[in-house]
Amino acid sequence: MLLSITQCFEGMKAYKDKNGKIRLFRPEMNMARFNNSADRIALPQFDGNELLKLIKNYVKTESRWIPSERGYSLYLRPTMIGTQEYLGVNPSNRALLFVIASPVGPYYKTGFKAVSLYATTEYVRAWPNGTGANKVGGNYAIGIKPQLMATKQGYQQNLWLFGEDHQLTEVGTMNCFVLWKDDKGELELVTPPLDGSILPGVTRDSILGLAREWGKFKVSEKSVSMPQIKEAVKQGRMLEMFGAGTACIVSPIKKIGYLNENIGALLQSSSTLPPRLPKPAILYMQDLDIPLDPNDPNAQAGPWAKKFNDTIMDIQYGDLPHDWSVLVD
Ligand SMILES: *Cc1c(COP(=O)(O)O)cnc(C)c1O
Repeated sequence: MLLSITQCFEGMKAYKDKNGKIRLFRPEMNMARFNNSADRIALPQFDGNELLKLIKNYVKTESRWIPSERGYSLYLRPTMIGTQEYLGVNPSNRALLFVIASPVGPYYKTGFKAVSLYATTEYVRAWPNGTGANKVGGNYAIGIKPQLMATKQGYQQNLWLFGEDHQLTEVGTMNCFVLWKDDKGELELVTPPLDGSILPGVTRDSILGLAREWGKFKVSEKSVSMPQIKEAVKQGRMLEMFGAGTACIVSPIKKIGYLNENIGALLQSSSTLPPRLPKPAILYMQDLDIPLDPNDPNAQAGPWAKKFNDTIMDIQYGDLPHDWSVLVD
């Protein structure tokens, strides 16, 4: 029996373009991140270029498994686990690095579908200088229960918060973006900074890169709190919110369930809450509507979320020439 306490992984995709050529998207970022994750749990380092060569050979060999329609791809899950056969909590004396692959369909078969989020106040995912920046197994194991709590209450995903002021950190297993008018009325795209609690997403970096290139709004990597989000919605300054990651590229957000304004009074009047257990926050939830497209009441994505999504997809499928797309030949 293998009792591996050390495990880390990556998530990337191989795409087929119109000419049947195989493409990867910024794969060197996945290799670097994979090594960082392995280092954090004292698994060995590897040569990222060599692993990338193996992955390229693999996707060429198995190319018939890469669907060719736009939106489809071969999902790749490089994984490393410690395979020591003793029980101590020590650096593993052996490790196994392997890649699992599976054809995947488009995330949105019938166009976007905006999601509702449950803002989790009972648990935190990560903290500054913790392991939130690494794709290590433990980070994901602890997210399953909050995800179940969210779906049980009728929300699709959970929104991770951190700190007394409830700063937004991630949307489930995606990075988080806010497009609003700041308090001076200036258009601003905000995503939380890479302080060690945030996963440095390839999609996140690509969105920031495109936004800076387009120059249509101020781009900020800074923390933003739920009270600020609430205020912006109330004042009509909120334009769009979305999650971002390899699986879906962007995931538009339409609603956030968050603590009621009167939470303080409610908590004080309740004598039934166990003092040391996570409080059943759902008792005090209130939904906050996040705008999608002001010009189309039926839209499932805001115009900028859609533009980021479409541009990145164009690059991934080689329809828009860009050095982020790496041809496998
Ligand atoms: C993988 C992951 C992301 C997204 O990273 P991409 O490289 O864009 O796929 C964001 N947040 C978490 C917690 C993740 O695990």
